[in-house]
Amino acid sequence: MTGTLTIKCPTCQKVMQVPAVLGGKRIRCRGCNTTISVPMPDTPAAYAQLLYAALRKLDELHMRLIFIEMPPDTPEWLAIRDRLIRATRPFQPLPQ
Ligand SMILES: [Zn+2]
Repeated sequence: MTGTLTIKCPTCQKVMQVPAVLGGKRIRCRGCNTTISVPMPDTPAAYAQLLYAALRKLDELHMRLIFIEMPPDTPEWLAIRDRLIRATRPFQPLPQ
């Protein structure tokens, strides 16, 4: 994957260009050293590449639970949503 993401530090407002492959990871602001979460890419193709790589890595760790925030329920995200729905089940909160 190529490209960059433009992010803004919520603490010092510094605007930075970061490699898109850092989507979903945390970095340190070059201005104030605050930890910033880099958002996932907002295009389905770039998002899918990072998502599937992350899921493969988690699978190797034999995690018992993985929580995923579903992408938007719009046509361009349909393939990713379908794949996630087939591989997961809805979260059921424990009884109180
Ligand atoms: Zn900052």
